[in-house]
Amino acid sequence: MTAIAEFPLAARVQGFLGGRPKQLLIDGEWIDAASGRTFPTYDPATGNALVEVAHGQAEDIDRAVRAARAAFDDGAWASMKPNERERLIWRVGDILSERAEEFGQLEALDNGKSVGIASAVDVAWAADVFRYYAGWATKIEGSTVNVSMPFAPGREFHAYTLREPVGVCGLIVPWNFPLLMASWKLAPALAAGNTVVLKPAEQTPLTALLLGEVFQEAGFPPGVVNIVSGFGDAGAALSAHEDVDKIAFTGSTEVGKKIVEAAKGNLKKVSLELGGKSPNIVFADADFDAAVEGSLNAWLFNHGQCCVAGTRLFVEDKIFDEFTQAVADAASQVKIGPGLDPTTQLGPLVSQEQFDKVTGYLAAGLADGARALTGGKRWGESGYFVEPTVFVDVKPEFSIVREEIFGPVVAAMPFDAESGVAAAANDSIYGLAAGIWTRDISKAHRTAKQIKAGSVWINQYNGFDTAMPFGGYKQSGWGRELGASGLDAYTITKSVNVAL
Ligand code: NAP
Ligand code: MG
Repeated sequence: MTAIAEFPLAARVQGFLGGRPKQLLIDGEWIDAASGRTFPTYDPATGNALVEVAHGQAEDIDRAVRAARAAFDDGAWASMKPNERERLIWRVGDILSERAEEFGQLEALDNGKSVGIASAVDVAWAADVFRYYAGWATKIEGSTVNVSMPFAPGREFHAYTLREPVGVCGLIVPWNFPLLMASWKLAPALAAGNTVVLKPAEQTPLTALLLGEVFQEAGFPPGVVNIVSGFGDAGAALSAHEDVDKIAFTGSTEVGKKIVEAAKGNLKKVSLELGGKSPNIVFADADFDAAVEGSLNAWLFNHGQCCVAGTRLFVEDKIFDEFTQAVADAASQVKIGPGLDPTTQLGPLVSQEQFDKVTGYLAAGLADGARALTGGKRWGESGYFVEPTVFVDVKPEFSIVREEIFGPVVAAMPFDAESGVAAAANDSIYGLAAGIWTRDISKAHRTAKQIKAGSVWINQYNGFDTAMPFGGYKQSGWGRELGASGLDAYTITKSVNVAL
């Protein structure tokens, strides 16, 4: 059960992993899947199974949706005052902070990411997201509208809007930030008064299930939060369910399109946060050392398993050789190891499937004629480790330049200042994020305007904040998460017009 003997697990993590198979949370009860089936979840640092988890399928999704429907229509949730919802959601944030070590270790074990990132980013930020949206529960407001009503001259009216919850929301999340992506959806959905069914990724169900305990501990009424672990078929059943009002999805663009297709039946609302192939642009006048460090973080953070990863590195030709070599040197110094080792900077990829996919791209890049300044192959003999890899001599048509790799791989390309970089940077089906490095303020803002991406970070990368909207242009998605905009996906506007 324990991944690696020299990194002992907290007693609560041992308890969580040591018991019977993990169950589904439906209508406030922990229950087995209707089929009685379970599946193992693995430690990617060793490939060993951690624990068995209930294998939820369409029938379990249906039970969860019915529980969410009942809780939405006539349960304690519907009648709860916003300030009571605020307190409950805030409490989830507090419990997450209190149990941060436990959540951090479990995330590191199940996903492979370093326990440092899991605690400082995944868990701490998830707690922040719950607190941020807790505050919104009491601040969701409609407006009064000064209507003209040209067809009813001489009469008076009182018109206003109400912002209501959408209803039953299906939340489908990926494995790269399992707890965090769940928090981005759960917190605004609940603040707005919806009830939810959460489907975590098959590779990383554990922190979502542990979070179920937190909702119970916080005192949420039964049926408000339901959690069904399972595979793609469970996600498909949720997105096609006739009694689900909304799907919020983070994952691949390919599955995002399937969700749009499945949602057609009852035209449920859909928000999507999908893939990316983000440009990171370094001008010759940038702070060289800061840009090297920031550019490394852009494609290597979370082992490159980030939808926003800055995996197309555009460097002004004057400094291209020196800059890419500095990035490659820094990459070759990164400490690779299991996530539970607190000194690890680069852990394993999440699964055999991702390992095969990423090493496949390395082979394709080399076969196409790219040159690896560093890396280019797997690391070690076991576990799903891949060396950080910097490719140069790449052409825009190479698959390593066009496709989302989701591993520690960057493709670097020179540009000349005269002809500009925007056209090359925008040459992608995606538009999620971008980085710009320069000391010239005007150039920075001008370039930010030219780039078709939902988030642009200047002289930094991964410049996220809970209060800043996040989402994609083009095939990177629909709608926005985080910030006040994040609530739009979970509310619906009603216009009320009264003839006085
Ligand atoms: P994925 O298949 O899109 O998985 C995301 C979530 O959707 C998971 O919970 C998944 O369940 C579920 N799902 C799968 N098929 C579904 C369907 N037909 N209907 C509804 N839900 C469904 O992503 P993946 O297979 O884990 O990773 C594939 C690639 O997607 C990666 O290599 C990466 O390029 C990209 N990706 C992007 C992001 C992002 O944040 N943009 C995150 C993860 C992956 P299962 O886990 O059981 O399949
Ligand atoms: Mg999948």
